[in-house]
Formats: sequence, structure tokens, C-alpha cells
Amino acid sequence: MSKISELKEKVLAGGEITREEALTLIDAPLEELCAAADEIRTKMSGNGFDICTIINGKCGKCSEDCKYCAQSAHYHTALTESYPLLPTEKILEEAKYNAERGVLRYSIVTSGKRLSPKEVDQLCESIREIRKQVKIEICVSLGLLGEEDFRKLHEAGASRVHCNMESSARYFKEVCTTHTYEEKIETLKAAKRAGMSICSGGIMGLGENFEDRIDMGLTVRSLGVKSIPVNFLNPIPGIPFENNKPLNNEEARRCVAIFRFLIPDGSIRLAGGRGLLGDKGEGCFTSGSNAAISGDMLTTAGITIETDMKLLEKLGYEARLCND
Ligand code: SF4
Repeated sequence: MSKISELKEKVLAGGEITREEALTLIDAPLEELCAAADEIRTKMSGNGFDICTIINGKCGKCSEDCKYCAQSAHYHTALTESYPLLPTEKILEEAKYNAERGVLRYSIVTSGKRLSPKEVDQLCESIREIRKQVKIEICVSLGLLGEEDFRKLHEAGASRVHCNMESSARYFKEVCTTHTYEEKIETLKAAKRAGMSICSGGIMGLGENFEDRIDMGLTVRSLGVKSIPVNFLNPIPGIPFENNKPLNNEEARRCVAIFRFLIPDGSIRLAGGRGLLGDKGEGCFTSGSNAAISGDMLTTAGITIETDMKLLEKLGYEARLCND
């Protein structure tokens, strides 16, 4: 029996692969690895595909120095737009637009280290309005908030909190110096204590190696994360990582396949940078990934909901909320 088959049997029997076992997948034959990951996905999640969209609820002028981000005030990119927290009407209108197109999950994302208490209260009002008028799950990605803020947001009707770990603890120091890995972990733990589900993954192509990717996967697994966004860096001019080489299809497929082995019942979610892949990410959806952020990303154009819905049908998937 090959190493891949052995590990596949282990996870299908309910076991967890160790760090050492995950490291063996870095050089494993790609097609066999991806086929095994797809088999795990089918056995664990059937043909369910978790499709969500995001709205940039507050844009730009960010105090933080995340080296991949066009919204950081530390860098000069073509992104010149900035605006404060959007009013309820705008956030509500987008929620309706998405729900009408079959999207089941909608995430409100804001720039900055964290929303202020006043902004949290304003957003709670918007969330209440959406819950009254639209049938859609609400996620929030609002920076490094604490348990009390999350309790308010949960009470208003948000069910999930997103906060990406971005990379391994070792490599995160190369990515951002204005906040810490530990603060991110504390944010996710606080959201959990407030009764919300958590979503956390990272960005591939920041200059990290495969070991860092695996360590990030192990971190989110240890926190009980079941929704794992997998972004591919868009090296836009002006950010410190502007000269990084984008991932190719094969590397992207290996990433999602390994994450599937690490978190067999998770929603391995393609996120930003999907459109940069030669196959627009299609190969990943038969290599362990069964979720995606559809539509535009925060500062870059994405793949439309209509295009994604057609692709899901072609691949035999059905849009469904997974890992609530
Ligand atoms: S990723 Fe978020 S916290 Fe970091 S610079 Fe961009 S908007 Fe700010």
C-alpha cells in the first residue's frame, strides 16, 4: 500500500495525520494525492459545495502593514479608494443581490486592526436588518475584536467569524509586524467562546515553503476551524511582495489536497487569487477543495457567481451550507 493510501485510510477511519505524515505529502505523486483528497472530500462532504461572497464594508487607510495588502496605508498601490463603514442600505442591498443568485453565506469584511465599539454597534444594526429581510448566513471579518464584541454580533445575527492566520507562526513575522500571530489566535478563541463558528486559512505565495503551509493547517486544525480559505497571492504593484512568483495549477492543487488530508471534514475554500490560476481553480475542486468565495474580492475582481454556479453544476456539486 502506498503512503498516500495508508494516510487516506487513516483519515477515513477517523484518525488525524501527524505533522511528520503531512510532510511526506509534499513530495508525493501529485495525481495520486489529488485523487485521494477528492475521495476523502466525497466520503466526508458528499457533493455539497459551500459558496460565499464578501463585501468590502470599510475600505483602505489601514494602520497595519500586512505585506500582501493593497489597503495598508504603508504602501503605495493603484488602490486609492477609501471609505468608512458602509451604511445599512448598501450592505443590505448587496446581501439581497447575493441571496437572489443562490449564495448562502455572505461575509462583511472591514479594513483596519479592529472596528471601534461604535462601528460594531452600527454594524449590528445592519446585520439585524439583513436577518429580517434576507435568507442568508452572515459572517464577519472585522479584525482583532474581543469576546464581548462577538457576543453582540452573534446576538444581532452573525454566525461566523473570519480571521486568517495567513501563514505559519514562524513565517508570519515576515508578513506583518503591527500585530501578532497570538492576537489572531486569541481573536478566533474569543469568537468561539461567544458561540460562533470560525473560519481561518491563509495566503499561498508569500514566500513561505510547504512546511509553513502545513504548520498553518495544523494551527487552524488545533483551533477547531472547519472553514479554511486558501488564497493565492495577487502580487499587485506597490506591495512588498509585488515580485513574488504566483503559484501554478499543480502547486495550488497540492495545497488544497494536503489541507484536505489535514482537515478531512472541512470546507477547503478557494478565495482570493483564484482567477490567476491557469484553470481558474477548476482543478482544485477535484483535488480536495469544496468551497469558494465567489464574486469580487476586496480590492480585485473575482469570478462571477453565475460562472461559479455553472461550474458547480458541471462538476456535480450542489450549493449547500457546510460546517455550520
Ligand atoms: S489585511 Fe486587513 S489588517 Fe492587514 S493591512 Fe490589509 S486591511 Fe489592514
